[in-house]
Amino acid sequence: MTDSAFEKSFEKKVLDTIKKHKLLSKKDKILVACSGGKDSTTMAYLLHRWGYDAEALMIDLRIGEWSNKSMANVKRFCAANGIKLNMVDIRDELGGSMCYLRSCIQAKTKLNNCTICGVFKRWLLNKKARELGATKIVTGHNMDDEAETVMMNLFRSTFTLAASMGPIAGTEEDKKFVTRVKPLYYCLNRDIRHYAELKKFPVEYRPCPCSTDVMRKNVREMLTELEKTTKNPLIKENIVKSFTKLLPSMRERYKRRGGGIKYCKNCGEPTTEEECQTCKLLKMAGRSAD
Ligand code: AMP
Ligand code: ZN
Repeated sequence: MTDSAFEKSFEKKVLDTIKKHKLLSKKDKILVACSGGKDSTTMAYLLHRWGYDAEALMIDLRIGEWSNKSMANVKRFCAANGIKLNMVDIRDELGGSMCYLRSCIQAKTKLNNCTICGVFKRWLLNKKARELGATKIVTGHNMDDEAETVMMNLFRSTFTLAASMGPIAGTEEDKKFVTRVKPLYYCLNRDIRHYAELKKFPVEYRPCPCSTDVMRKNVREMLTELEKTTKNPLIKENIVKSFTKLLPSMRERYKRRGGGIKYCKNCGEPTTEEECQTCKLLKMAGRSAD
């Protein structure tokens, strides 16, 4: 396949995903959650080029040189492509850098780096997107991420979490939730990388220096090894496709069981408990989000 044929088929796959799952409309005010990586940069590029009302939203997690480099890349990319960039500083919002907050929390719990980071990122993205009047948040999650997460939820028996996955995240709707969607849901990591390289996007291909999730790393290696030894390149795709077939019934089941959405007694953000996960973690670090 020529480079230009590859680009066309890749772009068609993303557009087909958006249409098939009705992820976005031209009336949506979209914020692309930009990390400075290839996936979210590709999404910001494509949505802007296709005429969607899309801006970028980046959280400065203050993970030293890593965050500085990622931020410089996102700023350069957005300026070159005429995309409005909204920045959020974790220190202003939550009272400390990701590294500081995490080290305080891990002195009291066994939660891993990516779990803590994920909780804070989702909280910040939702709050900021709502404040900016957005109707959708786009993330760069791809098929490899989703296949790994499906397997991790199986291994841990965390089905309520699995029910909140899929191309449109979340089981509950609420006026305070901005819907998160994943247009790269059916795109493989290696194809997105190839696309980003062809487009010469200024992005960071190294993994985050704090990503120490052993389970995810092992599952990733296991799936790659399986694809090699069974000479079946469709293993990840099959996991994701089987999962999306089960998803509607899983959602139905776990939706009815959940107690619905409440608002956190401390910060007012939507949560299924009295106090949200972010506030609970921040307390351990002697901080507060109210
Ligand atoms: P990760 O949780 O690092 O695997 O990233 C998954 C997705 O979350 C990325 O594709 C982005 O859309 C979003 N994301 C990650 N880090 C940031 C960040 N610092 N600022 C905004 N969005 C982010
Ligand atoms: Zn809260």
